[in-house]
Amino acid sequence: MEQHLAVAHEVIARCQSLAECTEETGFTTRSFLSAPMREVHARLGAWMQQAGMSVGVDGAGNLRGGYPAAQPSARRLFIGSHLDTVPRAGAYDGVLGVVLGVALAQRLNGRRLKFHIEVIGFSEEEGLRFGVPFIGSRALIGAMDDDLLERRDANGLRVIDAIRAFGLDSSTLANAQAGEDALGYVEFHIEQGPVLERLGLHLGVVEAIAGQSRLEVIFLGQANHAGTTPMNLRRDALAGAAEWITAVEKEACATPGSVATVGRLHPEPGAANVIPGIVRVSLDIRHADDSVRKEALGRLLRHAEDIAARRGLSVSWERHLDQSAVAMDASLTHMLESAVAASGYPVHRMISGAGHDAMIVAQRMPAAMLFLRSPGGISHHSSEGVLVEDVAAAFQAGLRFLEEMEAQR
Ligand SMILES: [Zn+2]
Repeated sequence: MEQHLAVAHEVIARCQSLAECTEETGFTTRSFLSAPMREVHARLGAWMQQAGMSVGVDGAGNLRGGYPAAQPSARRLFIGSHLDTVPRAGAYDGVLGVVLGVALAQRLNGRRLKFHIEVIGFSEEEGLRFGVPFIGSRALIGAMDDDLLERRDANGLRVIDAIRAFGLDSSTLANAQAGEDALGYVEFHIEQGPVLERLGLHLGVVEAIAGQSRLEVIFLGQANHAGTTPMNLRRDALAGAAEWITAVEKEACATPGSVATVGRLHPEPGAANVIPGIVRVSLDIRHADDSVRKEALGRLLRHAEDIAARRGLSVSWERHLDQSAVAMDASLTHMLESAVAASGYPVHRMISGAGHDAMIVAQRMPAAMLFLRSPGGISHHSSEGVLVEDVAAAFQAGLRFLEEMEAQR
């Protein structure tokens, strides 16, 4: 355990070192193939070399460190996460999973296994620069289409321009794709929520990534004078929306495993002395079971129609996202659970409410994911943290996982 704690301290120090690589002084902000990403590659690349790995950057800007198996013809286990961040991020979201992968390879200390290990630091997951997430993992599964490459950032640069500007050869993009030798993918990631902390647990094994729907619901009434229109003669779109928002909360509370959020409200004309005539309301609803999510959404939309009818309003909606849930691979997930248990930690299965690279990679190869407790449940903020004993636990479980995989090959 002492040894594992020492590794955990080093992993945390490395994450903090990478947090210095930023586009914004005093904060950690790092988008797809920005200048500080080059420095991240340099630092991580040096650590990869120390661990006896070959280092390269693929055509999509993913950093790739190869730790060879005993036999060149062996299959390949990917361990990874992303290296980009949200604006003013913490030091661990994404980066931790890559740094832990390097630490695992380093611990093998040159020992050759029956499978290659490839640690991959994805160039893009958060969608900050081009408004579209998962560019790095989409390249790994060969899902970089022309639409994606032609997207432009705030400066009018296309994805393909960004790749070239970083000094990469965009014609090698197809080579970023995982080969037939892919054995699976494992991602270590902070939970970014309060569940593990609430349960007093170090680690959580992810069994699925929740599916989600995002809509904009529009309540239409009649704007009118706030002083001269009696209460019984109003068609107040915002009062109708408010009634529906509380129904959204009730619906999610009554459906186990479901979360639903109204995060944006836009009433018009938005004056203190005018009855709101039109209100746009966002809805984000998620569940690990797609049929449960769709049924709950159906009930909510019927409820919106009932409220509108009763209040003399009309209601309509636009669907912006309808993303299916992604199950993690049963066999790899079971191996992760065994590794957690063998390391002396309680096993807890959970659903990820947030999207992750693992959900993209799962389309191409078996994928599994391990969460580390997030102190205070905080993420996407500079106060995002991780506990050294949790990093030690994840490292220990990671070593056990590699041993189990070795035993099964
Ligand atoms: Zn992340």
